[in-house]
Formats: sequence, C-alpha cells, structure tokens
Amino acid sequence: MNKKTIIANFKMNKTNKEVVEYLKVFKKLVKGKDANIGICVPYTDLATAVKYAKKTGILVGAQNMNENAKGAYTGEVSAAMLKDIGVYATLIGHSERRSYYNETNKTVNAKVATALNEGIRPIVCIGENLDERNSGKTNAVLRTQLKEGFKNISEEDFKDVIIAYEPVWAIGTGVVPTNEQIVDAMASIRKTLTTIYSKETATNTIIQYGGSVNEKNALEIASLKGVDGALVGGAGLDPNKFNAIIDGFLAANK
Ligand code: PEP
Repeated sequence: MNKKTIIANFKMNKTNKEVVEYLKVFKKLVKGKDANIGICVPYTDLATAVKYAKKTGILVGAQNMNENAKGAYTGEVSAAMLKDIGVYATLIGHSERRSYYNETNKTVNAKVATALNEGIRPIVCIGENLDERNSGKTNAVLRTQLKEGFKNISEEDFKDVIIAYEPVWAIGTGVVPTNEQIVDAMASIRKTLTTIYSKETATNTIIQYGGSVNEKNALEIASLKGVDGALVGGAGLDPNKFNAIIDGFLAANK
C-alpha cells in the first residue's frame, strides 16, 4: 500500500509571520504521524517554511516553477532555486494555473521534466471541468492530460511523480464527487498509467484526491479504493483542520 500523502496548498495566502505561527502549532499536532505530510506555500514563504519545518518531517513544497533551467524570464523562479533552499516538491499544472495563466499539458510536460532533472518532486494536478464531466468526457480528458503531461518522461523518472486528481468543479466549491466518481477516476488514471508505463508503476504511483476535502469528509474519501492521499486547499489553512484531515486518512481502513 502506498504511504498516505496529505498535502496542503496554501495558494496566495499567509505571510512569513503567519507561516511561522502555523508551523509552530502544526508540527506539534503531526509529530510522529506515519504519513507524508506537506505544505505548498507561496514563494516568499518557502525559505521560512523550510527553516521552521526542519527536523519535523513536514515537507515543504512550492506551488509552481518555471520550465526553463535559467535565464531571462523576469518574475520567474527556477527548479534549481527551489532546490537550493531545501524545497522538496512543487505543484505543477494546478487548475488555477491552467485556467488563469494558460498552462497547457505541454507546459506541464516541460515543467515536470525540469523539476525531475533538478530533483524536485512534481505533484501534478489533473482533472476535468464541469462541462467535460457532464458530457461524459472525464476519462478522455484525464487520459490526454496524462499522456501529454508525461510525454518522454521515463518510467524510472516518473517514480518520483505524485498525481493529484482534482475535478475542477470540486475545487473551492464545497461540492465533492460521489464516491463512485472518485473511485472510477482513480481506476481510469491507473489504467492510463499502465498503458504509458506498467501495471507495477500504475499501482505504486501515489494518487491524491483534491477538491473540497475537509475534516468531516476526509475519512470517507480516504477509505475509497485507489485514494492514497489528499491535496487540500481551504481546509489546509487551519492547522487544526488540516491535522484532523490527516487523522482521517490515517484512520481509513482498507
Ligand atoms: C486545491 O486548490 O488544490 C484544492 C483542493 O482546494 P479546496 O480544498 O479548497 O477545494
């Protein structure tokens, strides 16, 4: 069974001071818990978060990075820069980046390759929007996102990738897919990974569910077949709520 992997995405929230306050509380709450636990914070909070998370086991991730190694890309941050300050992972292709900043599967693919090259673990977000869901295109959309997003990424390199299945219509809406919809999406993702790579890699890939996870629904979602963890937005901003979500995942019996 894959180790439970529960990661919070702070989005554009929290100053340095607020991140320090958060970690002071959170590190005590999660001490000794047997899970991959992480927070993806804004660029300006990364160094502080790395410092305060040291020796706690809490992983610190970014929310984005540039696909180029270095150069004239004003305002951008490279994978090497993240690595340099002790950042462990980065989100890639979050639906907000796809919709507000025009990121495509091609951009995602370039970012994944660069991140892996620098030793930054990519947490790649995929998921259908409501129109795609309602017109029965979910599996096809997921298939395309995976095939194009991991084009030319070797099976060996792919082993460091985490996938977050985040239906766009469930992000920040309070709407959660049915259990069946989540289980089907997980199965569909693993089926595609089997065609791209192998059954073994598909089975061993950590796949998170993301979209309106909270302390009340965590246990039920965690109990679903194929769900290895969660990517948590809103509820992850409160250390107590995020800790309760982690407990839900650790309590899930499957
Ligand atoms: C997200 O943005 O990745 C997310 C899952 O948000 P929320 O939990 O707020 O729906």
